[in-house]
Amino acid sequence: MRLAAISCVLLLVPATLLSQDQTIRIRAATIIDGGGKTIKNGTIVVRGSKITSIEPGGTGSATYDLGSLTVIPGMIDVHAHLGWHFDKDGRYAAQRGAPAEEILYSAENAYVTLLAGFTTIQSPGQANDVDLRDAIARGVFPGPRVLTSIRQLNEGSGTPDEIRDKVRQLKKDGADVVKIFASASIRDGGKQTMTGPQLQAACGEAKAQGLRTMVHAHSPESIKASIDAGCDQIEHGVFADEATLKLMADKGVYFDPNVGVVLQNYLRNKAKFLGISNYTEEGFAYMEKGLALNAAMIKQAVATPNLKMVLGTDAVAGAHGHNADEIVERVRQGNQKPMDAIVSATSLAAKSMNLDKTIGTLAPGYEADLVALSGDPLTDITAVTRVAFVMKGGKVYKHVAAAAK
Ligand SMILES: [Zn+2]
Repeated sequence: MRLAAISCVLLLVPATLLSQDQTIRIRAATIIDGGGKTIKNGTIVVRGSKITSIEPGGTGSATYDLGSLTVIPGMIDVHAHLGWHFDKDGRYAAQRGAPAEEILYSAENAYVTLLAGFTTIQSPGQANDVDLRDAIARGVFPGPRVLTSIRQLNEGSGTPDEIRDKVRQLKKDGADVVKIFASASIRDGGKQTMTGPQLQAACGEAKAQGLRTMVHAHSPESIKASIDAGCDQIEHGVFADEATLKLMADKGVYFDPNVGVVLQNYLRNKAKFLGISNYTEEGFAYMEKGLALNAAMIKQAVATPNLKMVLGTDAVAGAHGHNADEIVERVRQGNQKPMDAIVSATSLAAKSMNLDKTIGTLAPGYEADLVALSGDPLTDITAVTRVAFVMKGGKVYKHVAAAAK
């Protein structure tokens, strides 16, 4: 954990001690609202789970005086796999243990993700996400809000009619989003796998059921076929070229490139993955090449006018809690403006999930999901990795006291 670098006391405030009716006042030197605005010396007033007002000026009492810290909305990761973990022997082993063991690994990942300042994540997805999502939503167990696809659709999901049935079943089972694989993994070259009619069935039926779609797509052909099928969001896009990026922008399709966490994590933890399924030497060679491809792609994506780029990491085993590195790398490799990177991780990410009226923005009426950073992310984006305070739904889960002075 990066917090080890901060020599101070970590206070974990038992959330249950805070009454729902208590007014909490949080003062900080800088408040970034998630929509592109900055407020200097402000106080955020919270009652119950919601923000009631933001007062300019540093007067009046404060329940939490965060001093020189910068407050931003709780960050949102639109693509994180909470269930992926290393096993007791240190090897990658998602979903192979006993159900109780698996859900506890997910819970651990949820907790470290929350402490890293991420108050909402979207998981594309596995069956026990539903239990995790519902447990966290009960408000006792700490973790980010979870949205899940429960399962995925791919080229083996059947005929268009069978795919439509599967989408309807996902709706019945409580999925928040439909995850679709339109292309192979980057470890297998990333070529298109699902046909146009299959994609049209998946994204068309999802739309009819009021469900959003997120599509794993690397090659330009697979991205274009997904856009033509009316899908809502493209994941990864390592081979996205100028024309496909422009097409996404023109059609208002969200783009979630993952350039700062996932490949770096795989390469760092190579020994823990190598030899399992497509984690072969050849697969790792593809991923190593992917780093340079990503660096070129993200520059092009940032330079594409009106492209709605949201923050997602594709966090897998070993990556949980490092989610904010994605923000840092988009700024560093892609020359994204720090404010735009923060917006992509807050209000725009919320909008991509149709939650922009409740989270992702610091304003009266919104859920009190807020995070305080040590430093100014507008001048040093690495501040997003130095999370000193986390509140979700009006409850404080982390307060690094010494850093707050
Ligand atoms: Zn993924």
